Amino acid sequence: MSCRVFMKEYNIESRNRFDVVKITHLVEEAVKESKIANGLVLVFTPHATAAIAINEYEPRISDDYISWIKRVIPPGAGWKHDEIDDNAHAHIASLVIGQSKVLPLSGGRLVRGTWQEVLLLEFDGPRRRTLVIQVYGL
Ligand code: ZN
Repeated sequence: MSCRVFMKEYNIESRNRFDVVKITHLVEEAVKESKIANGLVLVFTPHATAAIAINEYEPRISDDYISWIKRVIPPGAGWKHDEIDDNAHAHIASLVIGQSKVLPLSGGRLVRGTWQEVLLLEFDGPRRRTLVIQVYGL
């Protein structure tokens, strides 16, 4: 039997300049629609100023993620790219955290821990973001 590939795209509206958006339910919906039971799930966002992460989703820890990002990569800290469009911090945060994640798929279920949610991190919102989910397997 050969490997199958299923792909689905979603639009996500971020609400603020910095935002943490839970997307686990969309990943699980795509997995269900794929009818693929065992393999890998790629979660990707085709943007240079957003990122995909896996971690707990709860309002206070979400604020902490944003506080940490702002502390490590402060907006407006004299970045050269800010002369062009004022979002260098967002590019660097996206570069560091990454624009995709891969999760295991086993027995029709996304394999993840109790406190592991799939998150889209926004660094230059609010704006519409595209989410691409590809499921590979049998
Ligand atoms: Zn830019």
